[in-house]
Amino acid sequence: MKIEISRLHFPVTTLGPGKRIGIWFQGCSIHCTGCISVDTWQFGINSVSLDEVKLLLSEWLPKSDGITITGGEPFDQEAAFFELLEFLRPYQQSVLVYSGYSFQELQKKVEMDNGWIDVLISEPYDHTQPQTKALMGSDNQQMHMLTPLGEMDFNSFQSHGLEKKLDVHFEEDRVWMTGIPSNGMTEIVKSAQDDRVFLRHTQGAIKKKES
Ligand code: SF4
Repeated sequence: MKIEISRLHFPVTTLGPGKRIGIWFQGCSIHCTGCISVDTWQFGINSVSLDEVKLLLSEWLPKSDGITITGGEPFDQEAAFFELLEFLRPYQQSVLVYSGYSFQELQKKVEMDNGWIDVLISEPYDHTQPQTKALMGSDNQQMHMLTPLGEMDFNSFQSHGLEKKLDVHFEEDRVWMTGIPSNGMTEIVKSAQDDRVFLRHTQGAIKKKES
């Protein structure tokens, strides 16, 4: 089976507790205004073998504390997404999934009680909303604890309130930032420009200037 992936990274420390595997799906049909992941909207540009993805994840899973799946929109690739979730479940690490669909839509789309997703953050990003919740880009978004493992791992995040952090990853000629940026993202953009780099997308793919 094929799966469209924007990127895979380990470790990610800003999208849930512990050192997590980050899986960014490629392709999103929702197109929220103000989305910071515009680079993940287009379908059909990065289709890879799901078996190869599983192989890479198998190397990381013995060292990871959990998995965060975001995008892009994972539920736009239901078959591959569910096969991936089924593969991850035996590792017993908390799986956090971001979706831009409403919880009501997701309940209609899938059986939420199969135990494959521990924590679900639902609802589309709304740039007009305040941004005061940990792990969420706008306050209309909802965190659903779907399993005891999810509650155990993520309840402390909610009790700690808002903590906005970004991981920075250097890859060849790119600098990736992962995490939920605050509204102060513009300061990062300005700082990057001062250092003679420019942002390809506000998602955080900063490409160094050609010398
Ligand atoms: S915020 Fe998420 S759901 Fe909304 S357009 Fe961006 S990737 Fe899609």
